[in-house]
Amino acid sequence: MARIDLKNISHSYVAAPNTENNFALKTLNMSWQDGGAYALLGPSGCGKTTLLNIISGLLHPTHGAVLFDGDDITNRPPEKRNIAQVFQFPVVYDTMTVFQNLAFPLRNRNVPGKEIKQRVNRIAEMLELTESLPRRARDLSADAKQKISLGRGLVRTDVAAILFDEPLTVIDPQLKWSLRSQLKHLHAEFRHTMIYVTHDQTEALTFADQVIVMSEGEVVQASSPQALYERPVHTFVGRFIGSPGMNILPCEIDGAFLILADHRIPMDHIEPAAPETARLEFGVRPEFVHFSDEDDALPVSVSAIEDAGRYKIARLLFKELPIAAILPEDAPPLSATPKIKFDPENSHIYADGYLMEKGE
Ligand code: ADP
Ligand code: MG
Repeated sequence: MARIDLKNISHSYVAAPNTENNFALKTLNMSWQDGGAYALLGPSGCGKTTLLNIISGLLHPTHGAVLFDGDDITNRPPEKRNIAQVFQFPVVYDTMTVFQNLAFPLRNRNVPGKEIKQRVNRIAEMLELTESLPRRARDLSADAKQKISLGRGLVRTDVAAILFDEPLTVIDPQLKWSLRSQLKHLHAEFRHTMIYVTHDQTEALTFADQVIVMSEGEVVQASSPQALYERPVHTFVGRFIGSPGMNILPCEIDGAFLILADHRIPMDHIEPAAPETARLEFGVRPEFVHFSDEDDALPVSVSAIEDAGRYKIARLLFKELPIAAILPEDAPPLSATPKIKFDPENSHIYADGYLMEKGE
C-alpha cells in the first residue's frame, strides 16, 4: 500500500497544446493518503478517467510527476506500479472459468495454491459468484462478467491501491447497492487505498471518506461528504451535490443585509469583502429553507409539491426567484399564505462562483 502524490499534473490529448482548453486535466496537486477511501465525482467528460489512468500508468501526463511513497514513478509502466484497476466494462478471459479468472492475478504473483483458493472463495462469496466458479466466463451475463472484473481487482491483498472506474455502470440497481456496501466493508477490513470514480453522487458519498469533485478538468472541492453538503466552496458543487441541489439566487449585499429581488433581509455575519465588480449569489440548500409565521419571513407562492419518497420538495417562487424547500414526509399542509426563512448558519454567499468566507 502506498501514499500517492500528484505534483503539478496536467494532461492534454493534443500533440502541441497551446491553450488551457487543450487540457483535459488542468494543473492539479493532490495527495492520496495510504489506506484512504476516495471518490472522484464529476459529470461525464470532466477528466476522471484521465486522472485515474495517470495514476495507474496507462497514460503518461503531459506535465508533472506521480509519486508513490515519495518515489517519482512517472515513467514506470503500469505493470510495475502494483495497482489494481477495474474498468467500466468487463475485462475477462472468456475461455477461462470464473475461478481461473479470479485466481489469475494471484497465480501471476506465485501465491501458494491454498491461499489462492481461500482468497478466490472469499471474493466469490462477496460477489455472489460462488456457484459460477466452475463455469466458463463466456457463458455468463454482462453483469456477472463485470463482477468477475471487480473480483480480479479485489483479489490481491498486496496492491498499492485499487482504482475503480465507474465499475457498477452495467450492474443492475439492486446488486449495485449491495456491492457498494461490500466494497466499503472490504476497505474497512483491508485498508487498501481505494479511488472510486463515479458520476453518481450517491455512490460517491456513501463509499468515500473524501470526495474529490471535478468539473472541466479541474478539482473544485476535495473534502468530506458532509463538507460538500454543508459548505460547498463553489456553486458547481452546490448544484451538483444534493437532490435537489442548492438554491443559488442572484443577490446583492448591503452591509448586514442580503438583498434578494429588491427585498432586504437582515442576515448576521454576512459581510463578505467581495470586489465591487463580482457577481454575487446567495446559496442555501433546500433542507435549510424553513416555513415560518414570523413577521419578517418572505412570502412565497407554491408552484408544485413533489413527492420524493422519504421527503417532499416544495417548488416555490419568491417574486421571480425559484426556490426549492424540503418538507418532511409527514409535514402538515402549507398555509394559504406560506412564508419562508433561511437558516443563517447554512446560508452562503458566492462571488463569481466561489464561496465567500463569512465575516465575524
Ligand atoms: P470522464 O472520465 O470524466 O468522463 P475523460 O477523462 O474520459 O472524462 O475525458 C476528459 C476529456 O478528455 C473529454 O473531453 C474527452 O473527450 C477527452 N478525451 C478522453 N480520452 C481521450 C483520447 N483518448 N483522445 C482525445 N481526447 C480524449
Ligand atoms: Mg470516464
